[in-house]
Amino acid sequence: MIDIGRMDMEIKYESGICIEDGKKKIILDPTRQSEIGVVTHGHLDHLVKDAYMTIPTLDILEVRKGEKRGKAMHYGTPTEIGGFQVTLYPAGHVFGSSMVKVEDVLYTGDFNPYGGKTCKRAAPYDCETLIIESTYGKPSYSLPNKDGVTEDFIAWTRQQLDEGPVVFGAYKFGKAQEVIALLNELGEVPYVTEDIAELCDVYNKYDQGLEYQLPDGFEGNFTAVVPPGEIKRPIGDIARIARKKNGSSAYLSGWCAFFPYFNSMDIDAQFPFSDHAGFDELLKFVEGCDPSKVLTVHGSDKEFAEVVEKELGIDAESLKK
Ligand SMILES: [Zn+2]
Repeated sequence: MIDIGRMDMEIKYESGICIEDGKKKIILDPTRQSEIGVVTHGHLDHLVKDAYMTIPTLDILEVRKGEKRGKAMHYGTPTEIGGFQVTLYPAGHVFGSSMVKVEDVLYTGDFNPYGGKTCKRAAPYDCETLIIESTYGKPSYSLPNKDGVTEDFIAWTRQQLDEGPVVFGAYKFGKAQEVIALLNELGEVPYVTEDIAELCDVYNKYDQGLEYQLPDGFEGNFTAVVPPGEIKRPIGDIARIARKKNGSSAYLSGWCAFFPYFNSMDIDAQFPFSDHAGFDELLKFVEGCDPSKVLTVHGSDKEFAEVVEKELGIDAESLKK
């Protein structure tokens, strides 16, 4: 239990991020299905049934868990959950992702202050207590400028397409669709695997206008977007065909900024596209929210809490002991 300096309110990590105030109780990103839970987005480590979530996240739940069972929320519209007034705001992480404001507590969930082609950026909000994800919470985890990474990606893709097909490995929900949107801007309609197509269909239900196709014909120097596991050995069908045609492959992940994947993923290039905030953006976001208490979760949580105390002089600790 963490004392956040307000009478009665408690925040603790118990089957998710549990906030209690007298009889009021809510669980953010619950680890199992919960009627008083709020699911921030459709990545599998967050997705459970019965909870509150944005309407697109409910559709993603149906695709990934086979059942559309939960309660719909709109961004910016306060809803009562477990006795608290709760409002969702865009988190910039993946399509449908949200930050959660529970009275004067803000929980970022996984977030990105730059947003992406398919999701609005996360903006800081004034709050008393900030619960912030700290995936890249170490000072050494500074991510490169996103526009620069995009320029590198476009230049490399154009060049490789002169030589042969190009296959991109990207996580199937979120990253894959961002890559498809970028390739569409280059005039490419990439081949995708069925599971990626099924998730893209949800985006297009909300007019995201992604253009993609299921594998067919493989004529000329095509592009393709597949889950990361299908570009390394044993490689998937699309990557195999691309290789036979003198193709190249690349992997996209924020971790590419810090670790080489050339051998382990068997790729020709890697691009540090992140859907999380890097270290510098995390610190800036905390400043923007101007909280009196910061609680960190995920990744480098303890290191980031120390930095917040030292650099910003704000009381901070990891939520997980
Ligand atoms: Zn996520």
